[in-house]
Amino acid sequence: MALLSLSFSAGCSKPASEGEAGAAKTEDKTAKTADAKGTKKITIGFSMDTLKEERWQRDRDLFKAKAEQLGAQVLVQSANSDDALQNSQAENLLTQGIDVLVVVPHNAKTTATIVESAHKQGVPVIAYDRLILDSDLDLYVSFDNVRVGELQADYLVKKQPKGSYVLIGGSPTDNNAKLFRDGQMNILKPLIDKGDIKVVADQWAKDWQPVEGLKITENALTKNNNNVTAVVASNDGLAGAAVQALGEQKLAGKVVVSGQDAELAACQRIAAGTQSMTVYKPLKALAEKAAELAVKLAKKEPLGEKSQTINNGKKDVPSVLITPVAVDKDNLASTVIADGFHKVEDVYKDLPKDQWPAGK
Ligand code: BGC
Repeated sequence: MALLSLSFSAGCSKPASEGEAGAAKTEDKTAKTADAKGTKKITIGFSMDTLKEERWQRDRDLFKAKAEQLGAQVLVQSANSDDALQNSQAENLLTQGIDVLVVVPHNAKTTATIVESAHKQGVPVIAYDRLILDSDLDLYVSFDNVRVGELQADYLVKKQPKGSYVLIGGSPTDNNAKLFRDGQMNILKPLIDKGDIKVVADQWAKDWQPVEGLKITENALTKNNNNVTAVVASNDGLAGAAVQALGEQKLAGKVVVSGQDAELAACQRIAAGTQSMTVYKPLKALAEKAAELAVKLAKKEPLGEKSQTINNGKKDVPSVLITPVAVDKDNLASTVIADGFHKVEDVYKDLPKDQWPAGK
């Protein structure tokens, strides 16, 4: 493994350990720093697709905090949904002598090259939240993403077991988007086959862009003379766009809409009644588990996890999957708010006090 001291290129992150005992003295020079005993500090490379959705900044901060608590330092790069940039950023992290590489892939397929490159240098790779396909990946840490899709569709069909459904999938390059859809179809297919549910639009939003969700919903409404019963939006960004399009037709709150991520704006819409549900994924559990396992991998220690595997097209990848939770108006207070994910005064800020959860 390359343990050489290499200089940072302009614009890349500083060692997260700066200022801690034994960390780099100046702003610096080496990714590798030594503690007081002269032991090499573990360096984790964290290559992220994007920081655009609210969740990813939390993921980054929680991951860094846990890794630092475990005595490691983290170098973060974010690729702004650009495949070529993510690959070159990962290469750059590798030249800085990282011990383990954690990747949130923009593209499930093209990031296989990153795994190959890392392995050539003896660096293990963890896929964070999103799987990397057709590669010799070491570990996958995520949520049960098929379950996410099931929770979304199950909620909507309980409210509206019949009618015209709009399906808005996520980014076609994100393996999660496909898993969410698999989960949604596990619930919807029997009802579609029975003729109770008619799918009137079924599209995927490039890079999870809300503007795509807006267009998909607007077109579906126009084509169906506003006769839409439900929008299966795969995340909160897309749900927000769907609610906007519904609002333009005075249908917000009348059409059931799913989401995912428990973003603040989504929780506010749920409190206000324009979005029906979201899926809360406890990011602290994900980030901390990934940081712990990254440190263990770097130290070549046994991972000590229950064995579960997910096939990525090339191998059965050891996987840790955390359980997601469906959230609506009734359990906002006992989930997202009780967990400290959002504050009650932020979620309910636009609503009169008598609509706040009891006891607040
Ligand atoms: C994540 C979602 C997120 C989406 C867009 C998915 O892979 O699992 O939580 O909303 O990407 O960033």
